[in-house]
Amino acid sequence: SLPPTDVSMMTIKDKTFVPFITEEAIQARIQELAEQINQAYADKKPLIVVVLNGAFLFAADLAKHLTISCEITFIRVASYTATESSGQLKEILGLNESIAGRDLIVVEDIVDTGFTLYEVCQQLQEKEPASIAIATLLFKPTALKKQLDLHYVGFEIENRFVLGYGLDYDGLGRNTPNILVLE
Ligand code: 5GP
Ligand code: MG
Ligand code: MG
Repeated sequence: SLPPTDVSMMTIKDKTFVPFITEEAIQARIQELAEQINQAYADKKPLIVVVLNGAFLFAADLAKHLTISCEITFIRVASYTATESSGQLKEILGLNESIAGRDLIVVEDIVDTGFTLYEVCQQLQEKEPASIAIATLLFKPTALKKQLDLHYVGFEIENRFVLGYGLDYDGLGRNTPNILVLE
């Protein structure tokens, strides 16, 4: 295998991040998740819905281990404030496929409060897919505020800010093979 290329430390503005999950651990876990998905969807042709930007590396590495027949598409979730009282609403951008009757696998980088995926899943549900499953690389159970069924979870982590392997701080730091955590 390739030599380890983990980034040992990263400073962005005034924030210092230190190693948290190695590239090796990430890749091993993704292989396990892919095997679970391959088994569960052996007789199906799911539509994999990748939530950009954060999930781009996770989705790419996961997809390389999927042996099932599947389609892969990419969405963005835009936040906008409709009124003071209703707070932040989410709009799904980029979903051009018809999803009615399809088996969806939504691929996310991290579930924190769960608000984002909760709203995304509600909006997808309105288009009457056959099923919706969620695959998230990271999950912060103690931060969760919404009832969400997470089918494929890479790592449960404590409620700390993480960076790398797709996840950013202020737009930077997505381009590491390992995950780092705010010191
Ligand atoms: P949620 O709606 O579940 O609270 O948060 C979803 C989004 O917040 C994630 O998709 C991600 O973009 C961002 N987020 C939550 N926690 C973290 C974190 O620890 N690090 C980074 N970089 N982004 C996070
Ligand atoms: Mg995300
Ligand atoms: Mg971000």
